[in-house]
Amino acid sequence: MHQYISSPGNTVRILSKYGIKLKKSLGQNFLIDTNNAKKIVERAGVSSKDVVLEIGSGIGGLTEIMMGKAKKVICVEFDKLLVKAFKDIFSQELEERSKLELIQADALKLDYKDLALRNGIGKVVSNLPYSIGATLLLKIIMEAELVKKMVLTVQKDIAERLLASVGDKNYSSYAVKANFLAGFKFCFQIPRNCFIPRPFVDSWVIEVSRKDNSGLVDDNFNVDGFFDFINSCFLHRRKKMVNSLSQKNSKYCGNIEFIVKLLTDIGKDGDVRAEELALKDYIYLYRNL
Ligand code: SAH
Repeated sequence: MHQYISSPGNTVRILSKYGIKLKKSLGQNFLIDTNNAKKIVERAGVSSKDVVLEIGSGIGGLTEIMMGKAKKVICVEFDKLLVKAFKDIFSQELEERSKLELIQADALKLDYKDLALRNGIGKVVSNLPYSIGATLLLKIIMEAELVKKMVLTVQKDIAERLLASVGDKNYSSYAVKANFLAGFKFCFQIPRNCFIPRPFVDSWVIEVSRKDNSGLVDDNFNVDGFFDFINSCFLHRRKKMVNSLSQKNSKYCGNIEFIVKLLTDIGKDGDVRAEELALKDYIYLYRNL
């Protein structure tokens, strides 16, 4: 019977063979549950038409399963020692280059537009490193228009921030920005004991689908400007939003009266707090400012 890399015994054996000590600073929590790894790949509907990007491939537990289904898998890994082990394990596939490629890089520094276009990447499937997961997810959607779907494993607290809607305690500027770019769906939970070392929280597998905003905003809509506006509104999310926008160094401090007028257009008033407004409200405000 085939011994998958993601089986607990095999993972431990590989880590000790290469003298690898997993680092918390790089969010190295390896999935040691082959059933869940298969479930992730299945949920992403990976088929022989797909070129899939995997960020943080580690020793290739998820990669191995994906490679059996995908046209090609492109992996990104930062840790030199893990890269060395990966190159050893997949030496044949890497040499052939037709089914697998490995890029040693800091995933936060890559240009995903270029990477996706050059390789025809349409999907991202990853068990994201905790510390950079939230940032990376937005970066990839913003840059790589070709990527329509991502199936990502993230720790539960990040997933909750993404899935939060108005009124939830986790609702933040991050949720507003993320939901402008994409739709988020909960797929299933992976218990923390399916990872080594065992994290303090469980993980959620989420599906991210790029949103087509063409009906909502026109081509001239400035996304960076919009995100900047959202950040300004959420400066103090529990105080009145107009107070955040009235700060001396705020771009919007000269427009407060007008903003209050816009707020009354949508049935709110000058007392509203940033956490009480939905994405469509922010779009309305920004478009009219
Ligand atoms: N895919 C493996 C490992 C997931 S752990 C599995 O499912 O078991 C997260 C991985 O991301 C680790 O291998 C870690 O080294 C890598 N990583 C962390 N920060 C990174 C960064 N900035 N760029 C690329 N990879 C990174």
